[in-house]
Amino acid sequence: MLHITVTAKKPVDPEWDGLGRPFVGYEKGMTPDEMYEANHGEWAIGARGQKERFALFSFGRTVIQAVEIESLELTKAFERTPEEKRDDRYTIHGKILGPGHPVFDKYVGRETPVSIARNPVRYFEDSEFDGGAGQPCRCGCGELTTRGDFIPGHDQRAIHERIARIGTVAEFLDWMDVVRPASLRA
Ligand SMILES: [Zn+2]
Repeated sequence: MLHITVTAKKPVDPEWDGLGRPFVGYEKGMTPDEMYEANHGEWAIGARGQKERFALFSFGRTVIQAVEIESLELTKAFERTPEEKRDDRYTIHGKILGPGHPVFDKYVGRETPVSIARNPVRYFEDSEFDGGAGQPCRCGCGELTTRGDFIPGHDQRAIHERIARIGTVAEFLDWMDVVRPASLRA
């Protein structure tokens, strides 16, 4: 699961914010929609986060919201000055979960499941919800994937490994044309 620690509510300049928000963060009394609007972007989400199904948001040491991730959108990074280039930032789009959903019931309102760290973006394993722990990536790397047969990019790795078993790309094509001639494909 993806876990994000949010700050206390603070104003930001909507002109500089990638989502045009007047403020970010959390304060007591916010509705779920307000929490989502203020905190669903812009986060430096790494490769591991790209395959997570759920995101938890915490304030202090308490989980305040759970979201089922539908997509991650790369936010256009504003370049304030040539020196101030930012990492890629993502906005989480998804469904706000409520009471009755097992992820909400397990986490929201309870103690944050990850240790304290400087980086607000963290990941942790919950075998109950992480795609049934996922299935092994078909490339054979031993990692688990929850979306499709491959971890992103590993399908290319698997293909190139097969080609290398035969030799060069040209040798692979020659071999392939013998074992599976084009005329037999139709
Ligand atoms: Zn793999």
